[in-house]
Formats: sequence, C-alpha cells, structure tokens
Amino acid sequence: MRSKLPNVGTTIFTVMSTMAQDHGAINLSQGFPDFDCPARLRELVAQYLDDKKNQYPPMTGIPSLRAAIAQKVLDLYGCSADMDQEVTVTSGATEAIFDAIQASVSAGEEVIVFDPAYDCYDPAVTLAGGRTIHIPLSLPKFTIDWDRVKAAISARTRMIIINTPHNPSGAIMSKEDLNILAQITRDTEILILSDEVYEHMVFDGQQHESVLRHEELRQRSFAIFSFGKTYHATGWKLAYCVAPPSMTAEFRKVHQFVTFTSTSFIQYAVADFMQECPQHAAELSLFYQEKRDTFNHLLGESRLQFSPSHGTYFQLVDYSEISSLPDFEFASYLTKEKGVAAIPLSPFYKEAPNNTLIRFCFCKDDATLHAAAKILCTL
Ligand code: PMP
Ligand code: GLN
Repeated sequence: MRSKLPNVGTTIFTVMSTMAQDHGAINLSQGFPDFDCPARLRELVAQYLDDKKNQYPPMTGIPSLRAAIAQKVLDLYGCSADMDQEVTVTSGATEAIFDAIQASVSAGEEVIVFDPAYDCYDPAVTLAGGRTIHIPLSLPKFTIDWDRVKAAISARTRMIIINTPHNPSGAIMSKEDLNILAQITRDTEILILSDEVYEHMVFDGQQHESVLRHEELRQRSFAIFSFGKTYHATGWKLAYCVAPPSMTAEFRKVHQFVTFTSTSFIQYAVADFMQECPQHAAELSLFYQEKRDTFNHLLGESRLQFSPSHGTYFQLVDYSEISSLPDFEFASYLTKEKGVAAIPLSPFYKEAPNNTLIRFCFCKDDATLHAAAKILCTL
C-alpha cells in the first residue's frame, strides 16, 4: 500500500522494550514505572467499575473531572479555565497532541519543533499536510536558540511545539524563555502547543513554568498534560488539554472523531483521587528527585558521564569513554550483551548529530536501579 508516512518505522520505545524483553534485560528504556499506581486510586477504579460506570461518558470528559482539572490549574498556575469551554479530557497526551495539530495545521503550513523532539509530533504534522521545521536544541544544556527560532518564522508558520520538562533531555524552560516566545509570536497567527506531561517532575527547588502561568501565551496555547505520568498509570491513557474557547472548539471537532471519549470508570476514579489526594502530585518532584539521586549516585562509580536531569524521569548519559559505537548500536549492545536497555537519542532528531548519548528511565524501584547500576559500573 502507498504510505502516507514513508519515513516512519516502529517507535524506538517499542523497539527497545521488545529487545529488552527478548533478551531478559532490565528495561530502563521506554518510560513507565515498574511500581504500581496508588492503592487508593486502584480502589476507586474498582469501585466505579462495579458501580456500572461502563457506558459512554460525555465527549468532553465527565464534569467532575473537568471541574477538578480547572481547580488544579487555578491552584497551581493561577489560571482560570472554564471547565465547559476550555478543558477537554483525552485518551492520552498522544491523542491530545494529534487533535491539536489536526485542528490547527493546514496543507503547506509549517510547525517549528525542537530536536531532540518527542516522536509523535512530526507524523501528526505530516498527516495534517504540514511541514515540520526542526531546530536543534543547543548542547550541552539543551536550550533553545531563540535567534534561530526568529530566523525560522515565516508567513507559513502556524505552530511552535514546546516540551517542558523536556523528554529526552530533562531540561526545563525558564520564565525568560516563555517571555521571549510570547514576544516573538505577538501579533502573529502562530499557535503554541505546550507538551507539559512531566509538569510534576521538576527538581532542585525549581518551578515548572507552564504556559498557563503566562497570561499572554495562555491565550494562544494548547496546554497538554497526562495523568499517566502523574499517577504512575501510563497504561490508562488519560490526559487533558486546556485551551481558550475558540481553540478548544476546534480541538473538540477532531477529538470527537478520533476517540470521541475516554474510559469511563477511570475518569470517575481520577476525579475523586484529585480531590482526595492532592498531595500525591505535590510530592512527586521530591519522590522522583530521590530516584534520580539514587541512580546518579550509583552511576558515579561508572565511566558514564552526565549532569543531573532537571526534570522528567529520564537521565541522559554520555558513553564516549566506554565505546565509539553509534547510539543505536551501543544501546542494542547494552541491551543484548549486558542486560540493561536504554533509548538512543538519534531517533529524536531529523538530522542526528554525532553524539554518544543514551537515555535511561529512573522511574523504577530502587532494587531495579541498583541491579542496573551494578551492571553499568562494570562497563
Ligand atoms: N509527550 C511526551 C514528551 C511524552 O514523554 C509522552 C509519554 N510518553 C507523551 C507526550 C504521551 O503521553 P501519553 O502516554 O499520555 O499519551
Ligand atoms: N513517553 C514514553 C517515553 O518517552 C514512551 C511512550 C510510548 O511508548 N509511546 O519513554
């Protein structure tokens, strides 16, 4: 069959997790916890499943969940969002990203993305008939070179996609970054898609700078969040998008024909849990900071080089003292021969630089992190 996505293969997350499974390796590749979601949340899910909440929920998400989300963005970001006109529940952030792009981008229009870029952005733009303009983040800190962004903007630019905290680098955007973004998109038709799925994983006392906290950017942004990350339940695929009414109206036109709605009993359970246990999200940064520190401390004995991640549950490491293999080959060797799976960085680039970086996921039990680090220290 003729392909609409001729350059797309199977995602690197599936490739590396399958390789890990086939070779019995410790899987620090694809980002998912190996510990369970909170017991109370599982109890609520079971309760609502038994309570016959098994038919179509409203297309936009159940009211109590949208109300809890509106309250959360008000409490956390000082953003007042109308739950009926500005909040939409989706089946994962992946769906929300796809919906926002299909709703906004027309044939021939351009979308600016920053490499290394999360892998679902580019295909969604291509399917909309648009074209991605890839701007590499500046190493070593994976920061945005705003002069390059200014130079890349044209009359065809429809959207800029940002991701903070950033997967795979763990970098976070500053308030100053958002101010510059606001300034260069002022008085244009350019929309912002802000992928903030790791909003609750920001370390060392720093603050997550949401576009929802920024009064001007808020007016032209799709802000996208995922319960999968926050509640250790990546398999539930529940997320949401906050955007101004006119943008939400267009977003929903796509959402209603992509999935229409998202799993009923999980929405009820998450709505209750958000109210009952706000401390879960509030304590998450510290929880993951401890995991990062445990893992990095153990890696201190290895020949891997790194600087501590600022956010997300990922840690990049440079393996140049160990090997000169290209990153996919090194990650494959590590998985097959040494028994620890990682994600290479090159699949996140349009034109991969010649770097020797791989990504480890540290959202794992301490025993898993110890077992993996023990192997990595022998390299
Ligand atoms: N954006 C980024 C940066 C991610 O890391 C992920 C998670 N894997 C997603 C979006 C998609 O999230 P979800 O699993 O809710 O679809
Ligand atoms: N976001 C996850 C990661 O970066 C993977 C999600 C997926 O497998 N699609 O590891």
